[in-house]
Amino acid sequence: MTKVVIIGAGGVGGVVTHKCAQLPEVFSEIVLASRTKSKCDAIAAQLDRPIKTAQVDADNVPELAAFLKAEKPFMVINVALPYQDLTIMDACLEAGVHYMDTANYEPLDTAKFEYKWQWAYQEKFEKAGLMALLGSGFDPGATNVFTAYLGKHYFDEMHTLDIIDVNGGDHGYPFATNFNPEINIREVSAECRHWENGEFVTTPPMSKQQQFTCPEGVGTYDIYRMYHEELESLTKHYPSIRRAQFFMSFSEKYLTHLRCLENVGMTSIEPIDFNGQQIVPIQFLRAVLPDPASLGPRTKGRTCIGCYVTGVKDGKPVRAYVYNIKDHEDCYAEVKSQAISYTTGVPAMIGAKMMVEGTWMKPGVWNMEQLDPDPFMADLNQYGLPWNVIESPDFDVE
Ligand code: NDP
Repeated sequence: MTKVVIIGAGGVGGVVTHKCAQLPEVFSEIVLASRTKSKCDAIAAQLDRPIKTAQVDADNVPELAAFLKAEKPFMVINVALPYQDLTIMDACLEAGVHYMDTANYEPLDTAKFEYKWQWAYQEKFEKAGLMALLGSGFDPGATNVFTAYLGKHYFDEMHTLDIIDVNGGDHGYPFATNFNPEINIREVSAECRHWENGEFVTTPPMSKQQQFTCPEGVGTYDIYRMYHEELESLTKHYPSIRRAQFFMSFSEKYLTHLRCLENVGMTSIEPIDFNGQQIVPIQFLRAVLPDPASLGPRTKGRTCIGCYVTGVKDGKPVRAYVYNIKDHEDCYAEVKSQAISYTTGVPAMIGAKMMVEGTWMKPGVWNMEQLDPDPFMADLNQYGLPWNVIESPDFDVE
């Protein structure tokens, strides 16, 4: 009998709550807490079993620690924003509660995400006998587990890794982001970094592009190289990887809007004075863009996210591609969400399930690829994100 506290009632929070509620034998009690309680209540109203909802400010460590001490959950599933990672980790340590998230810490005033801040908690969590599982979404998350799975079963040594995230969905808006607009725009407008021969190489944003044809008729898309956080942990934990890149698909329409918004200063994170008040342009932009949680009923098409790895097995060159395809409308029918939140929320539920059941439970701070991929891969198949491996696929990635 295990109680979990989910923090964050956005697009991803909605899916995690739905998926945890579907498994009462694992998650016997669920508390959904967020800054705006009405959003928690709206999610709770969609479920066919009662859960508790609460208002909490996850930036405030004493308040959150007191809340966790009163609730006494087994763990926190953090699906608030990356800015809250460290305060929630601090509160978990104070309250003696395990921790899990889907995105690595990012300081509010610097658009830069790195694991160093969270890795620095290793000793604290280990000494407290608590576990922190980092990045249990899809990318990072399932992509780390995909890589670990290929590394375990298909390769003696992995040499190149290309993570390819295609969203073949259309929500009908001229411009909207599929998850939190502020986090999304900070991510895609950042300089690109990829791993090459033992170091990260920096290139201008969106400067490398190629076409990728997804399997199962999802289509052919323009994919652009960008930095993504799992490159940091995967190249650390698999030192045989010589080159690691992350690609995401963007439509010409999305990129034209983004360039225009950048050119007029709307994506800036520097506060400006407006009518005697300080506002941050990207936060204002977020307020006028469609809420990602509202895209669910409008989005059609499929996502295709996978990892393409080359390397050697038994002295011979090997290539393999592991991927999941998910239909936006199927996700909406199941949990009232589009596939981006769904593909994040399901691995978040599975990561928590691994911890609750003790399958993945060891004190310290861990990235997904440091744990046995097999039980997680089995659960992806069972809980809505089936995957497939293609050996020697008919494409290569430059
Ligand atoms: P949303 O903006 O839709 O939701 C964030 C939620 O967190 C909101 O309910 C918000 O409250 C709440 N929140 C923000 N600040 C606080 C605070 N100080 N205290 C309590 N609650 C707070 O984001 P998403 O659901 O799209 O994304 C959630 C997380 O998932 C993000 O960290 C994102 O980076 C990550 N993500 C990971 C992916 C992966 O594959 N690994 C993919 C997509 C997202 P309010 O409603 O009041 O604003």
